[in-house]
Amino acid sequence: MRPYIVGNWKMHGTRAMLSEARAIDRAAERLMKVEVALAPPYTLLHATRKEAALIGVGAQDCHAAEGGAHTGDISAAMLKDSGAGFVIVGHSERRADHAESDADVRAKAEAALAAGLAVIVCVGETEAQRDSGKAEAVVARQLDGSLPQGEAAAAKVTVAYEPVWAIGTGRTPTVEDIGTMHRSIRERLKAIYGEDGAALRILYGGSVKPDNAGELLAADEVGGALVGGASLTAESFLGIVAAAHEAIEA
Ligand code: PEP
Repeated sequence: MRPYIVGNWKMHGTRAMLSEARAIDRAAERLMKVEVALAPPYTLLHATRKEAALIGVGAQDCHAAEGGAHTGDISAAMLKDSGAGFVIVGHSERRADHAESDADVRAKAEAALAAGLAVIVCVGETEAQRDSGKAEAVVARQLDGSLPQGEAAAAKVTVAYEPVWAIGTGRTPTVEDIGTMHRSIRERLKAIYGEDGAALRILYGGSVKPDNAGELLAADEVGGALVGGASLTAESFLGIVAAAHEAIEA
């Protein structure tokens, strides 16, 4: 399966940033061995979809309900209508800032699938949890509670392992630690989805940059990257995409 490199723009970007999306889309044409996607803020979703012909475009969150009295929220069907093909759910910033539980994340993921979107489900331990030796257990619990259920789900789910302490900090786990965690996630996915769990992509996220992407992407069971800060300019994001492309050529 092609490596999947997804840029999460978080709460960054006005229409001026569409030029970055255009540049990323144009370059994607010569980097077709990599599947590239961007998750801009809601306000740029439709415009990004219109500007970008080749890359995937998705959102950073959705509400679990189909519609109703939820001021300020956006449903999965609305995302689809705006041109989204996928949605990220359970990002640690959502879990922390909006007190989202595993059950909330699962409800959002199931709503997204029902609306015809693919989902990227984020999991990851805090620094204290890693220091106390609980990282794998915490992530296994998050997977058990957050992943959408049902046989059809596996085909449309990607998991992103993002240690909270590595997001936006410039710190990353060692390649060995990433491999250990991703192997443990793979086992859990097989327990949850059966044989389909063997095929799901598991992304690594947390301070991926052009200069460390080659090494991190080569870790065991890493099928791509979820990229925050380094996805905000075409130059740095394409450096990561190029590293993924080279890893395949090698
Ligand atoms: C993220 O927030 O998903 C992320 C991986 O951020 P960064 O690349 O900036 O660490």
